[in-house]
Amino acid sequence: MDVADLPDVPDWLPDHLREDGIEELYPPQAAAVEAGVTAGENLVAAIPTASGKTLVAELAMLASVARGGKALYIVPLRALASEKQAEFEQFERYGLDVGVSTGNYESEGGWLADKDVVVATSEKVDSLVRNDAPWIEDLTCVVTDEVHLVDDGERGPTLEVTLAKLRRLNPDLQTVALSATIGNAGELADWLDAELVDSDWRPIDLKKGVHYGQALHLEDGSQQRLAVQSGEKQTAAVVRDTLRDDTDEEGNVVEEGGSSLVFVNSRRNAEAAAERLGSTVRPHLTDDERDRLAEIAAEIREVSDAETSDDLADAVADGAAFHHAGLARDHRELVEDAFRDRLVKVVCATPTLAAGVNTPSRRVVVRDWRRYDGSAGGMQPLSVLEVHQMMGRAGRPGLDPYGEAVLVASSHDELDELFERYVWADPEPVRSKLAAEPALRTHILATVSSGFARSRSGLLEFLERTLYASQTEESGRLERVVDDVLTYLERNDFLESEARSASGQSSGDEPRDVELDATSLGHTVSRLYLDPMSAAEIIDGLEYWTRHGGDEAGTAAETDPTDAEFTTASELAANGGGAEAGGDPDDISALGLYHLVSRTPDMYELYLRSGDREEYEMALYEREAELLGPTPSEFEEDRFEDWLAAFKTGRLLEDWAEEVDEDTITERYGVGPGDIRGKVETAQWLLGAAESLASELDADVARAVSRARTRVEHGVREELVELAGVRGVGRKRARRLFDAGITDRAELRDAPKPVVLAALRGRRKTAETVLENAGHRDPSMEGVEPDPDVTVAVDDEGSEPTAEPGEDQSSLGDF
Ligand code: ADP
Repeated sequence: MDVADLPDVPDWLPDHLREDGIEELYPPQAAAVEAGVTAGENLVAAIPTASGKTLVAELAMLASVARGGKALYIVPLRALASEKQAEFEQFERYGLDVGVSTGNYESEGGWLADKDVVVATSEKVDSLVRNDAPWIEDLTCVVTDEVHLVDDGERGPTLEVTLAKLRRLNPDLQTVALSATIGNAGELADWLDAELVDSDWRPIDLKKGVHYGQALHLEDGSQQRLAVQSGEKQTAAVVRDTLRDDTDEEGNVVEEGGSSLVFVNSRRNAEAAAERLGSTVRPHLTDDERDRLAEIAAEIREVSDAETSDDLADAVADGAAFHHAGLARDHRELVEDAFRDRLVKVVCATPTLAAGVNTPSRRVVVRDWRRYDGSAGGMQPLSVLEVHQMMGRAGRPGLDPYGEAVLVASSHDELDELFERYVWADPEPVRSKLAAEPALRTHILATVSSGFARSRSGLLEFLERTLYASQTEESGRLERVVDDVLTYLERNDFLESEARSASGQSSGDEPRDVELDATSLGHTVSRLYLDPMSAAEIIDGLEYWTRHGGDEAGTAAETDPTDAEFTTASELAANGGGAEAGGDPDDISALGLYHLVSRTPDMYELYLRSGDREEYEMALYEREAELLGPTPSEFEEDRFEDWLAAFKTGRLLEDWAEEVDEDTITERYGVGPGDIRGKVETAQWLLGAAESLASELDADVARAVSRARTRVEHGVREELVELAGVRGVGRKRARRLFDAGITDRAELRDAPKPVVLAALRGRRKTAETVLENAGHRDPSMEGVEPDPDVTVAVDDEGSEPTAEPGEDQSSLGDF
């Protein structure tokens, strides 16, 4: 189909597409148009990676907006939201208004009312629905990217419920769901009442295969010699082979060497592989390439002072890089750009990159096909779907004759196994994970609290619209799980129920229904976007402090654990302010609160590595009195492990709030700078929620919680909170200013300029910005000299936190 023949789209679109080199629709795109995607029809498009799904989404959204509507594009990862936003902003010159909403669960969203297209994660959309964002009802088109992720245990249920809610709120809503090739696209289409485009067409041929011994074994049965030199790893051999120019007999280059993407199973492995492959790539670089790479390496070092930053810069200088969700966003962008510019020749990545960043390469190597899975207690094979998505990144249309994607086998048996398991296999069907309890807990409370359902039968009726209901065969199961969850929510005072007969009369032998209503606390929990179990844990912890706080003897021995587990909100309210009975609310330690939020199911705890146990156990017993709850007995293995892992996580947060260097923290806890950011952000959100819960319950601890929250937000001790809150200051500069005698915002505003300049180590531009943000009327530093009497600690180049808050949430469904 020629782009000129597109129905229902704005007049400017065909020319715009031609400018972009798109004259004809790809066949699956044409099929989508024929199925009515520009006419408002629901559509499920299951097509391979890199086959033009984004254009299908754009056609649907632009046609819908042209009819006077408003579109929503749901992304699976926050990291992809800005990517998509940038893509859709190309339409702003035609008057389209694009907004992105990735903030941290807060309830604003009013400004999005004026946008034509909104990009958001499913968590964000769920939160907007719960908070009654009025523009949700104006939506005419919703597109979900990577809808096969409804299969993801962590995040799938939110996507599933959110789609069901949007469709119920707005029965005329056009739903477009984009998916990788999956086994049961038809089921998704049935669930969404949608037309189906199910295709395995690709714009560039893909040859899958396995490297074993000295050859590449391809799926068509052919073999291609690919020798491994002595002492060389197979992956290095494949990368080296890809770099090589193909020449004819006279030595003319017939095909230029190309780039490789190597997928591995952990961040650490990505880093190690990049370092090693640098030595493979380096000899192939021209002088000019080396110079340009050195410049990029310098930019990378500028981004952060952490070791990861140095490691990345070192690798990039050699033409290799790693890419994972622990990187700051600036790092990721520098790497992706350098790869697309063909300067970086090999990127070693965890599968984040496969999920949607458009970085095709000549060859893809799937080096690791197993990864560690904590819930299974060991290494587990990746799904066919995941491996095929990674493989799909092979081949750059217009640049390569075809793409090659290879797995790596170390034995003949493994060669056979990999062919069976991945090369010849079809992706598995997608299955709903909604029946998992944490998911149902959260969504049932939200559904009742926002008035979507007011009775047990109404709730069941709503849940019938989910994929789970359409897939489950076991009769009565949904009902059973729902009843368990309702009991839990009631016991914790989040819900109230009242039995009545189905007709509303209170007598007779009719079947009985149960009326459901959220309590005020339940509404708060739902609005805060907390897992109800996190809320219960936080309430328990705060309550425990009010009763036992700071009391050295207040340990497990004298607390009835069943009692602790089911403290209800009303009990806490009754105990609220009982400072004389228990701990002084002002004595709650920051560590106690960090531990409390770290042990909720909403925080991804740090793993305990081998050797950690002893170290943290000792530290735990030293500081037990600060914790808001009784330490479980060591005989309760799982609970104790969990408690200890939360303690380790809490310690990381405490270190951050004690101004420990970012670099020291990454080393001490074995994490990346993006992880610190992720933990800090989650802690900030959970402590904010704890503050709201404390106020709701009239507990006297809100002030202490607030202090711990602002400290972790800025990564500083108490005395620096105000200074660090001035824009452009941050934790390190705040400390230097403080040491120079400037202790708060007002003092900063009135401070002698030479002192400020000296404290900021002579950096005029920085000093001017900081003074301006502090409200100084004349921030100019012209002619000012640093005060020689101010001495500043010399440390590494003073970088501030790696990423802006809110940019990276690496803890979400990523590794
Ligand atoms: P997917 O989302 O399916 O992984 P993308 O939408 O990112 O793939 O498309 C991959 C590339 O193909 C993009 O660079 C896009 O510009 C290009 N593309 C999409 N449709 C066409 C088309 N009809 N003709 C030429 N190029 C196209």
